[in-house]
Amino acid sequence: MRKRVGVIGGGIAGATAAYHLLKADASLEIILLEAEDQMGHHTTGRSAALLLENDGVESTRSIAKASVDFLLNPPEGLTENIFVIPRDVMHIATVEQSSSVDRFLEKNSSGRIPTKEISKSEAKKRFPALREEGLDRFVVDEGAGDIDVHCLHQAYLNHFRKNGGQIMVSTRVDSARRSGDSWILETKTGEIPVDLIINAAGAWGDQVASRAGVKPVGLQPKRRTAFTVNSNDLDMQKWAMIADIDLRFYCKPDGLQFLCSLAEENPSEPCDAKHDEADVALAIERINKATTLDIRSVQTAWTGLRTFAPDRSMVIGVDPDESSFYWFVGQGGTGIMTSPGAGRLLSDLITEGKPSEHFNETGLNYADVSPERLRKK
Ligand SMILES: Cc1cc2nc3c(=O)[nH]c(=O)nc-3n(C[C@H](O)[C@H](O)[C@H](O)COP(=O)(O)OP(=O)(O)OC[C@H]3O[C@@H](n4cnc5c(N)ncnc54)[C@H](O)[C@@H]3O)c2cc1C
Repeated sequence: MRKRVGVIGGGIAGATAAYHLLKADASLEIILLEAEDQMGHHTTGRSAALLLENDGVESTRSIAKASVDFLLNPPEGLTENIFVIPRDVMHIATVEQSSSVDRFLEKNSSGRIPTKEISKSEAKKRFPALREEGLDRFVVDEGAGDIDVHCLHQAYLNHFRKNGGQIMVSTRVDSARRSGDSWILETKTGEIPVDLIINAAGAWGDQVASRAGVKPVGLQPKRRTAFTVNSNDLDMQKWAMIADIDLRFYCKPDGLQFLCSLAEENPSEPCDAKHDEADVALAIERINKATTLDIRSVQTAWTGLRTFAPDRSMVIGVDPDESSFYWFVGQGGTGIMTSPGAGRLLSDLITEGKPSEHFNETGLNYADVSPERLRKK
């Protein structure tokens, strides 16, 4: 009999899981279930779309390493577009933040292109609207880029669909119960039997687990707001992104606008997050202090939930107590750029029981992302 797999959640996590798993084992019958009427309605559609290898905890950096080649050189036949356009990321610091710069440089020497310190005049060339006064030190990540998130998400989904995968939108999985060796997924429109569950429900990951009788892992969704402002006809498309060295704000060219954020992390319940005007106002104040952009109004603002496990590593793999329930959550603030590596890892674990040789050179210690670590007291 063909094995049936139910992937719960149609964000980038569910999409890459479905894509990679079907590619690894075409005999599987995979159903991707999304609660909303649009895929990517929640966090995936609200990101800053950045590829920055020197970001996050060690395991995230390893998974990013396992993702870069896919993003820069997509597999034959997956897309006619490009997923990444290069963009430098420049971290800026005042005199008082000098020790943060030292720590930052020490920590970020492991990417393909290590972070390096540059002069103020070099920094001005990369972001001409920087204010001269106040800022003292500048470091740059040259191996970064902007990801076309919509294009990447759709590429996974289109490939999955074309190869026989099933997608059901407006289908919230309300609960799951065991039926012999299988599961019955309960939805408003009926029951769906599956043999294996992949929980890719983002901020709702623990809720989905609880409703399947599986112990939660302690996920914490955290709000982050972003907004766009007019570029006032500046020719800024090739400028670097700037980010405060302690991540108190960031600002990057985004088409004909700037995309800005306070980079806040405010705990939230899983929900359709809405932005708080005070977060936008504070970000504008900080960006105006560091630049001559003189931001006075906002085009659009939105908030998304970046969801973390307690140790900020992703949660990828089989549940220690339920051999047919796989976790694929906790992507935090890096779920887009790590999606190729994370999807590959999940599919390796399901089909081979361990990470494949693809991860050999990445430094990944699988124990760091295994769900088991979160069950140990
Ligand atoms: C402001 C901001 C900036 C960011 N910047 C970056 C960045 O620069 N680079 C980067 O890599 N990442 C970034 N991220 C993080 C990235 O967006 C996330 O890591 C990623 O989108 C998480 O994807 P996901 O599929 O896990 O979650 P989601 O996209 O939220 O998908 C989960 C899906 O599960 C569905 N679901 C939930 N419960 C059920 C159920 N019971 N039944 C069916 N479906 C269900 C939901 O409707 C949802 O669509 C940013 C995030 C934010 C908010």
